[in-house]
Amino acid sequence: MPEGHVSHRNAGLWQERLTGHVVREARSRDPRALALGIPGRLEGDAVTGAEARGKHHLMRFASGRVLHTHLRMTGVWRLVPAGRPVRSTGLTLMLRFDHATAVLYSCQGIRLLEPGEPLPPGIRALGPDLLHQATDPAGDTVAALRAIDPGREVGEAVMDQRVVAGIGNVYKSETLFLAGVDPWRPVGSLTDAEAAAIGTIACDLLHRGVAEPGSITTYDPPGRVWGRPRGEKWVYRRAREQCRRCGTPVRSRGQGDDNRTTYWCPTCQT
Ligand SMILES: [Zn+2]
Repeated sequence: MPEGHVSHRNAGLWQERLTGHVVREARSRDPRALALGIPGRLEGDAVTGAEARGKHHLMRFASGRVLHTHLRMTGVWRLVPAGRPVRSTGLTLMLRFDHATAVLYSCQGIRLLEPGEPLPPGIRALGPDLLHQATDPAGDTVAALRAIDPGREVGEAVMDQRVVAGIGNVYKSETLFLAGVDPWRPVGSLTDAEAAAIGTIACDLLHRGVAEPGSITTYDPPGRVWGRPRGEKWVYRRAREQCRRCGTPVRSRGQGDDNRTTYWCPTCQT
């Protein structure tokens, strides 16, 4: 499921390939997008830029309108070269340009902001975006974790986009493993060095995710020197398998109000 690296990768692609291009045709099969008149309002408009804020996508148009999408658990954006077939099953929005078609599937979080309309509260409330170049991943993460209720569990807090933006369920488990931090500890028990390491490691993993399309890869098996990454991870979805560092069985349990599964090594993470 999409974490912060996906929105930043998509926005970078749009910025590079769609800026200056006009929407020749817009279509939707999504009742909500149709009721809001989104396709009709986009036809004939030109893309002027794109950006990601945490897991939110913003596509800006010459009219001043802004297409805001959030992929949540199921959504996916594709950029298809002109002339290639576009699957219509599950189509939320299709924007056809002369040279390419941008297609959004299975997305519940779509809206089109009129010129001057403020960004939704969910974006305005975001914490520092670990993939934004103005963010200091170490310092800003320390400050963000110091500013919240010290009794919150680390594994729950780092996924709260209002604290820091970009980390989803996979990066949560992988970051805390690499930082050596037990996800069940209270935030108030973290040293500055531990909080800084969480920010720095998550930032590095997210950047790798932007650069490498496909399944998130955080672990490189020793000895492999060629070929594409295969989506291997340190602990995520490895419950009861041996820890790659110490051999202890990896544990898993739901965490936070949303009961998202956290994976951790009880020996390496303290
Ligand atoms: Zn271990």
